[in-house]
Amino acid sequence: MEINNLSKYYGAHKALDNVSLSIEPGTVTVILGPSGSGKSTLLRTINHLERVDEGFIQIDGDYIGYRRKGDTLYELKERAILKQRTHVGYVFQNFNLFPHMTVLDNIIEAPVVHGLLNRKQAIARAYELLDTVGLREKAHAWPRHLSGGQQQRIAIARALALNPKVMLFDEPTSALDPELVGEVLDVIKKLAQSGVTLVVVTHEIGFARQVADQVVFMVDGAVVESGSATQVLDRP
Ligand code: ADP
Ligand code: ADP
Repeated sequence: MEINNLSKYYGAHKALDNVSLSIEPGTVTVILGPSGSGKSTLLRTINHLERVDEGFIQIDGDYIGYRRKGDTLYELKERAILKQRTHVGYVFQNFNLFPHMTVLDNIIEAPVVHGLLNRKQAIARAYELLDTVGLREKAHAWPRHLSGGQQQRIAIARALALNPKVMLFDEPTSALDPELVGEVLDVIKKLAQSGVTLVVVTHEIGFARQVADQVVFMVDGAVVESGSATQVLDRP
Protein backbone atom coordinates (compact mmCIF):
# COMPACT_ATOMS: atom_id res chain seq x y z
CA MET A 1 0.00 0.00 0.00
CA GLU A 2 1.26 3.43 -0.96
CA ILE A 3 -0.14 6.49 0.79
CA ASN A 4 0.89 9.46 -1.23
CA ASN A 5 0.77 13.12 -0.12
CA LEU A 6 -2.62 12.66 1.53
CA SER A 7 -4.39 15.68 2.96
CA LYS A 8 -7.85 15.93 4.48
CA TYR A 9 -9.68 19.03 5.77
CA TYR A 10 -12.64 19.44 8.08
CA GLY A 11 -13.60 22.96 7.09
CA ALA A 12 -10.45 24.98 7.65
CA HIS A 13 -8.97 22.38 10.01
CA LYS A 14 -6.32 20.20 8.41
CA ALA A 15 -6.84 16.72 9.92
CA LEU A 16 -4.25 15.10 7.61
CA ASP A 17 -1.28 17.09 6.46
CA ASN A 18 0.53 15.69 3.45
CA VAL A 19 0.86 12.13 4.80
CA SER A 20 3.03 9.72 2.82
CA LEU A 21 3.69 6.14 3.92
CA SER A 22 4.77 2.96 2.26
CA ILE A 23 3.38 -0.28 3.71
CA GLU A 24 4.77 -3.59 2.46
CA PRO A 25 2.45 -6.60 2.04
CA GLY A 26 2.27 -8.85 5.09
CA THR A 27 3.80 -6.33 7.47
CA VAL A 28 2.48 -4.70 10.65
CA THR A 29 2.40 -0.92 10.90
CA VAL A 30 1.57 0.63 14.26
CA ILE A 31 0.38 4.26 14.32
CA LEU A 32 1.01 6.20 17.51
CA GLY A 33 0.25 9.79 18.41
CA PRO A 34 -1.72 11.99 20.78
CA SER A 35 -5.50 12.28 20.65
CA GLY A 36 -6.60 14.44 17.71
CA SER A 37 -3.43 13.84 15.69
CA GLY A 38 -5.32 12.30 12.74
CA LYS A 39 -4.81 8.57 13.35
CA SER A 40 -8.50 7.65 12.96
CA THR A 41 -8.91 9.96 10.01
CA LEU A 42 -6.02 8.22 8.26
CA LEU A 43 -7.60 4.78 8.77
CA ARG A 44 -10.98 6.09 7.68
CA THR A 45 -9.59 7.50 4.44
CA ILE A 46 -7.85 4.17 3.71
CA ASN A 47 -11.24 2.48 3.94
CA HIS A 48 -12.98 5.30 2.10
CA LEU A 49 -15.18 6.15 5.07
CA GLU A 50 -13.85 9.68 4.51
CA ARG A 51 -13.11 11.52 1.31
CA VAL A 52 -9.60 12.53 0.53
CA ASP A 53 -8.98 16.17 -0.40
CA GLU A 54 -5.53 15.73 -1.90
CA GLY A 55 -3.30 12.81 -2.67
CA PHE A 56 -4.12 9.13 -3.11
CA ILE A 57 -3.83 5.69 -1.64
CA GLN A 58 -2.90 2.78 -3.82
CA ILE A 59 -3.55 -0.79 -2.71
CA ASP A 60 -2.40 -3.54 -5.07
CA GLY A 61 -2.70 -1.25 -8.07
CA ASP A 62 -6.22 0.02 -7.18
CA TYR A 63 -6.57 3.67 -6.22
CA ILE A 64 -8.55 5.40 -3.47
CA GLY A 65 -8.89 9.16 -3.62
CA TYR A 66 -7.53 11.08 -6.51
CA ARG A 67 -5.42 9.86 -9.33
CA ARG A 68 -3.28 12.38 -11.09
CA LYS A 69 -2.89 12.22 -14.86
CA GLY A 70 -0.73 15.09 -15.97
CA ASP A 71 -2.29 18.10 -14.30
CA THR A 72 -5.75 16.56 -13.94
CA LEU A 73 -7.08 14.77 -10.86
CA TYR A 74 -9.59 11.96 -11.40
CA GLU A 75 -11.74 10.65 -8.59
CA LEU A 76 -12.39 6.94 -8.21
CA LYS A 77 -15.78 5.68 -9.30
CA GLU A 78 -18.16 4.39 -6.64
CA ARG A 79 -18.07 0.81 -7.88
CA ALA A 80 -14.32 0.66 -7.65
CA ILE A 81 -14.60 2.00 -4.12
CA LEU A 82 -17.01 -0.73 -3.05
CA LYS A 83 -14.81 -3.39 -4.60
CA GLN A 84 -11.82 -1.91 -2.87
CA ARG A 85 -13.58 -1.81 0.48
CA THR A 86 -14.07 -5.58 0.47
CA HIS A 87 -10.27 -5.87 0.39
CA VAL A 88 -9.88 -3.78 3.54
CA GLY A 89 -11.17 -5.04 6.90
CA TYR A 90 -11.92 -2.55 9.67
CA VAL A 91 -12.06 -3.18 13.41
CA PHE A 92 -13.45 -0.36 15.54
CA GLN A 93 -12.79 0.60 19.13
CA ASN A 94 -16.33 -0.34 20.18
CA PHE A 95 -16.71 -3.69 18.37
CA ASN A 96 -19.86 -2.57 16.45
CA LEU A 97 -21.33 -6.09 16.20
CA PHE A 98 -24.92 -6.26 14.94
CA PRO A 99 -26.80 -6.71 18.24
CA HIS A 100 -29.83 -8.42 16.72
CA MET A 101 -27.72 -11.14 15.06
CA THR A 102 -25.98 -14.15 16.59
CA VAL A 103 -22.20 -14.40 16.39
CA LEU A 104 -22.43 -16.73 13.40
CA ASP A 105 -24.82 -14.42 11.52
CA ASN A 106 -22.56 -11.45 12.24
CA ILE A 107 -19.67 -13.27 10.57
CA ILE A 108 -21.47 -14.66 7.52
CA GLU A 109 -23.37 -11.47 6.67
CA ALA A 110 -20.79 -9.63 4.58
CA PRO A 111 -19.56 -12.49 2.36
CA VAL A 112 -23.16 -13.54 1.66
CA VAL A 113 -24.38 -9.98 0.97
CA HIS A 114 -21.40 -9.32 -1.32
CA GLY A 115 -22.10 -12.59 -3.13
CA LEU A 116 -18.62 -13.92 -2.43
CA LEU A 117 -19.80 -17.11 -0.71
CA ASN A 118 -23.11 -18.95 -0.52
CA ARG A 119 -24.60 -19.48 2.94
CA LYS A 120 -23.16 -22.95 3.40
CA GLN A 121 -19.67 -21.87 2.35
CA ALA A 122 -19.90 -18.80 4.56
CA ILE A 123 -20.84 -20.91 7.59
CA ALA A 124 -17.88 -23.23 6.99
CA ARG A 125 -15.59 -20.21 6.71
CA ALA A 126 -17.11 -18.67 9.85
CA TYR A 127 -16.23 -21.76 11.90
CA GLU A 128 -12.63 -21.59 10.64
CA LEU A 129 -12.51 -17.95 11.72
CA LEU A 130 -14.06 -18.76 15.10
CA ASP A 131 -11.24 -21.27 15.57
CA THR A 132 -8.72 -18.57 14.64
CA VAL A 133 -10.06 -16.30 17.39
CA GLY A 134 -10.67 -19.21 19.80
CA LEU A 135 -14.44 -18.82 20.12
CA ARG A 136 -16.05 -21.73 18.22
CA GLU A 137 -18.29 -22.47 21.19
CA LYS A 138 -19.85 -18.99 20.93
CA ALA A 139 -21.24 -19.42 17.40
CA HIS A 140 -24.87 -19.24 18.53
CA ALA A 141 -24.42 -16.69 21.31
CA TRP A 142 -25.75 -13.13 21.20
CA PRO A 143 -23.13 -10.35 21.24
CA ARG A 144 -24.51 -8.87 24.49
CA HIS A 145 -23.78 -12.14 26.31
CA LEU A 146 -20.06 -11.93 25.48
CA SER A 147 -17.31 -10.07 27.30
CA GLY A 148 -15.80 -7.03 25.59
CA GLY A 149 -12.71 -9.04 24.69
CA GLN A 150 -14.81 -11.79 23.17
CA GLN A 151 -16.91 -9.27 21.23
CA GLN A 152 -13.78 -7.71 19.82
CA ARG A 153 -12.41 -11.14 18.80
CA ILE A 154 -15.73 -11.78 16.99
CA ALA A 155 -15.46 -8.36 15.33
CA ILE A 156 -12.02 -9.41 14.07
CA ALA A 157 -13.42 -12.70 12.74
CA ARG A 158 -16.21 -10.78 11.01
CA ALA A 159 -13.73 -8.41 9.33
CA LEU A 160 -11.66 -11.41 8.18
CA ALA A 161 -14.67 -13.09 6.56
CA LEU A 162 -14.13 -11.13 3.33
CA ASN A 163 -10.50 -12.33 3.12
CA PRO A 164 -9.16 -8.78 3.16
CA LYS A 165 -5.63 -8.01 2.00
CA VAL A 166 -5.40 -5.29 4.62
CA MET A 167 -6.81 -5.12 8.15
CA LEU A 168 -7.22 -1.76 9.88
CA PHE A 169 -7.55 -1.61 13.66
CA ASP A 170 -8.63 1.64 15.34
CA GLU A 171 -7.66 1.44 19.01
CA PRO A 172 -8.96 -2.14 19.21
CA THR A 173 -8.26 -2.52 22.94
CA SER A 174 -8.91 0.93 24.35
CA ALA A 175 -12.56 0.19 25.26
CA LEU A 176 -11.60 -2.98 27.14
CA ASP A 177 -10.97 -3.66 30.80
CA PRO A 178 -7.22 -4.16 31.28
CA GLU A 179 -7.51 -7.90 31.91
CA LEU A 180 -9.16 -8.40 28.49
CA VAL A 181 -6.58 -6.47 26.43
CA GLY A 182 -4.15 -9.41 26.17
CA GLU A 183 -6.60 -11.83 24.56
CA VAL A 184 -7.35 -9.35 21.75
CA LEU A 185 -3.68 -8.46 21.21
CA ASP A 186 -2.89 -12.20 21.05
CA VAL A 187 -5.37 -12.62 18.17
CA ILE A 188 -3.82 -9.64 16.34
CA LYS A 189 -0.32 -11.08 16.88
CA LYS A 190 -1.51 -14.38 15.39
CA LEU A 191 -2.85 -12.50 12.34
CA ALA A 192 0.50 -10.80 11.98
CA GLN A 193 2.01 -14.25 11.35
CA SER A 194 -0.61 -15.07 8.70
CA GLY A 195 0.45 -12.71 5.91
CA VAL A 196 -2.40 -10.18 6.18
CA THR A 197 -1.17 -6.58 6.09
CA LEU A 198 -2.04 -4.90 9.39
CA VAL A 199 -2.33 -1.21 10.26
CA VAL A 200 -2.99 -0.74 13.97
CA VAL A 201 -3.74 2.49 15.82
CA THR A 202 -3.00 1.80 19.47
CA HIS A 203 -1.44 3.16 22.61
CA GLU A 204 -0.03 -0.30 23.49
CA ILE A 205 3.69 0.39 23.25
CA GLY A 206 4.61 -3.16 24.31
CA PHE A 207 2.57 -4.52 21.41
CA ALA A 208 4.32 -2.09 19.03
CA ARG A 209 7.73 -3.27 20.23
CA GLN A 210 6.84 -6.94 19.85
CA VAL A 211 4.98 -6.94 16.55
CA ALA A 212 5.52 -3.78 14.51
CA ASP A 213 7.65 -3.85 11.38
CA GLN A 214 7.06 -0.12 11.12
CA VAL A 215 6.07 2.46 13.75
CA VAL A 216 4.61 5.78 12.63
CA PHE A 217 4.26 8.74 14.97
CA MET A 218 1.71 11.41 14.09
CA VAL A 219 1.29 14.93 15.46
CA ASP A 220 -1.25 17.49 14.18
CA GLY A 221 -2.16 15.41 11.13
CA ALA A 222 1.43 14.92 9.98
CA VAL A 223 3.80 11.98 10.17
CA VAL A 224 6.69 13.27 12.28
CA GLU A 225 8.60 9.99 12.61
CA SER A 226 8.54 6.56 11.02
CA GLY A 227 10.86 3.60 11.20
CA SER A 228 11.39 0.41 13.16
CA ALA A 229 10.03 0.24 16.71
CA THR A 230 13.54 0.72 18.08
CA GLN A 231 14.26 3.70 15.83
CA VAL A 232 11.05 5.51 16.76
CA LEU A 233 10.58 4.50 20.40
CA ASP A 234 14.15 4.55 21.68
CA ARG A 235 15.18 7.92 20.31
CA PRO A 236 17.14 9.87 22.88
P1 ADP B 1 -7.05 10.74 16.47
O1 ADP B 1 -7.62 9.50 15.88
O2 ADP B 1 -5.56 10.82 16.36
O3 ADP B 1 -7.53 11.00 17.86
P2 ADP B 1 -8.80 12.04 14.61
O4 ADP B 1 -8.39 11.52 13.29
O5 ADP B 1 -10.02 11.46 15.25
O6 ADP B 1 -7.55 11.96 15.60
O7 ADP B 1 -9.03 13.61 14.51
C1 ADP B 1 -8.08 14.48 13.91
C2 ADP B 1 -8.62 15.89 14.00
O8 ADP B 1 -9.73 16.04 13.14
C3 ADP B 1 -9.12 16.27 15.38
O9 ADP B 1 -8.80 17.62 15.58
C4 ADP B 1 -10.62 16.04 15.31
O10 ADP B 1 -11.33 16.84 16.22
C5 ADP B 1 -10.90 16.42 13.86
N1 ADP B 1 -12.03 15.66 13.33
C6 ADP B 1 -12.15 14.32 13.23
N2 ADP B 1 -13.30 13.96 12.66
C7 ADP B 1 -13.95 15.13 12.38
C8 ADP B 1 -15.21 15.44 11.77
N3 ADP B 1 -16.03 14.48 11.32
N4 ADP B 1 -15.53 16.73 11.66
C9 ADP B 1 -14.71 17.72 12.08
N5 ADP B 1 -13.51 17.48 12.66
C10 ADP B 1 -13.13 16.21 12.80
P1 ADP C 1 -11.16 9.00 17.89
O1 ADP C 1 -10.20 9.83 18.67
O2 ADP C 1 -11.15 7.55 18.28
O3 ADP C 1 -11.07 9.23 16.42
P2 ADP C 1 -13.21 10.91 18.34
O4 ADP C 1 -13.94 10.96 19.65
O5 ADP C 1 -12.18 11.90 18.00
O6 ADP C 1 -12.63 9.44 18.27
O7 ADP C 1 -14.26 10.91 17.17
C1 ADP C 1 -15.43 10.15 17.19
C2 ADP C 1 -16.30 10.52 15.98
O8 ADP C 1 -16.59 11.92 16.02
C3 ADP C 1 -15.61 10.28 14.65
O9 ADP C 1 -16.58 9.85 13.73
C4 ADP C 1 -15.07 11.62 14.25
O10 ADP C 1 -15.00 11.74 12.84
C5 ADP C 1 -16.11 12.57 14.84
N1 ADP C 1 -15.51 13.84 15.25
C6 ADP C 1 -14.37 14.01 15.95
N2 ADP C 1 -14.09 15.32 16.14
C7 ADP C 1 -15.11 16.00 15.56
C8 ADP C 1 -15.42 17.37 15.40
N3 ADP C 1 -14.61 18.33 15.86
N4 ADP C 1 -16.55 17.71 14.74
C9 ADP C 1 -17.35 16.75 14.26
N5 ADP C 1 -17.12 15.43 14.37
C10 ADP C 1 -16.02 15.06 15.00
